[in-house]
Amino acid sequence: MAQQEMKCPTCGGDKFRHKEGSTYRCAYCGGTVIGPEIRRAPAASATQEQTATRRSNKDKTTALILCLFLGGIGVHKFYLGQTAWGILYILFCWTQITFLIAFIEFIVLAATSSEEFDRKYNF
Ligand SMILES: [Zn+2]
Repeated sequence: MAQQEMKCPTCGGDKFRHKEGSTYRCAYCGGTVIGPEIRRAPAASATQEQTATRRSNKDKTTALILCLFLGGIGVHKFYLGQTAWGILYILFCWTQITFLIAFIEFIVLAATSSEEFDRKYNF
């Protein structure tokens, strides 16, 4: 047996049946023993799956802050990977229209759910 040494505190037996998590049942007296955890795979594989489906990792909060404070010069557009739009914002920021558009975008972005945001920008 490759398992590390574990002894039942009640009868000293060394055979156990795994119950769940780090809980084992003694094969001799049936007592419950806390041992090394075996199953923790589900949580790990779930996070792995999530990082695998996400190619980029843009953050909605960061985008919101950039949009609010630097939106008039299109910084949020550069952050979201829409470089062409960002350049347009810089070109037209003297008209101050971009500040108005950025403010509207801020509201739209704030109303966008995280899932929607991921679908749009973290594909
Ligand atoms: Zn026992």
